[in-house]
Amino acid sequence: MKESYEGKMLQNYDMPTRYQVEENLLLALFNHGGVIKEFSKNEEIVNEIADNFNLNEKQRTVVLERIYKKEDRIVRTPLWHRLLYRAGNSLATTKFVTRPTETLKLTNKTEWMLTERGYDKALELQNMSPDCKETLPIKSFEVQKIVKKISERQKPRSYNPFDKTKKVEIFTKKSRLRKRGFRQAVIEIYGYRCCVCGLKLCAPDKIQWEVQAAHIIPHSYFGKDDVWNGLSLCRLHHWAFDVGLFSFNEKFKLISSLNSKALKNDHGMIFDFCFLDHLKESNCFLMLPKTKNHRPDVTAINWHRKNVFSK
Ligand SMILES: [Zn+2]
Repeated sequence: MKESYEGKMLQNYDMPTRYQVEENLLLALFNHGGVIKEFSKNEEIVNEIADNFNLNEKQRTVVLERIYKKEDRIVRTPLWHRLLYRAGNSLATTKFVTRPTETLKLTNKTEWMLTERGYDKALELQNMSPDCKETLPIKSFEVQKIVKKISERQKPRSYNPFDKTKKVEIFTKKSRLRKRGFRQAVIEIYGYRCCVCGLKLCAPDKIQWEVQAAHIIPHSYFGKDDVWNGLSLCRLHHWAFDVGLFSFNEKFKLISSLNSKALKNDHGMIFDFCFLDHLKESNCFLMLPKTKNHRPDVTAINWHRKNVFSK
């Protein structure tokens, strides 16, 4: 009986269908970087999705009355709220999202989160290629699980930054997920800052960060995808590190080839400012992560200094 009463209300108030709300919810998740807060009254997301459907005041506020038998009382829930919840619940049942109770265990936040399956669906709805996952910073439950694993792992005493079991890089679904987890974990651990210049910059979408996760020992040399073989670097410093313009000594002090090789007059300049001047300074140190366990591995740093750095 309850179903038909709710169904009637949905019809009377010309509410969107649950399927339409499900699709909209997936897109809202995508636009919010893969996570949105649990629905509650006055929560911005509740209004945002209502705006997408141009719901009028009555549609947003009309209340559904249900009898809560356990406590023998009447529960009043806004119909729109109930519809949103039903859509979220249905997406969770079909494994397109994780429920706030499930996400809580992973992130300590009560949020709805996209799964890889839901992420694929959101891309499909926008006619975007699945390859976009490699560059878009959208969170998914599976990737966040890897982030957690990487961040919480204790560094083994006999840590080896090389993965010699890896012969040829084969791109599998698993290895792509691992890479995305590596990138996300490293930039989170360094607080979204470049560890050389401290640059922290976010795009207007509040999702995309300027900073990138760099391997100290590159993949092509069998470097591992973990925090001890990673650095968070801005694009300029990522490039300069990869081509060997600078490296670090064992005390994480920056050493630079710019000290011995003078830059050409017109190189490294932005207007009158030499953008690379700080690399010439002898007292520049890597900005280490807060937790000692997350510090870059010295063997990996030494390898970079000997093999990539150009004196
Ligand atoms: Zn930088």
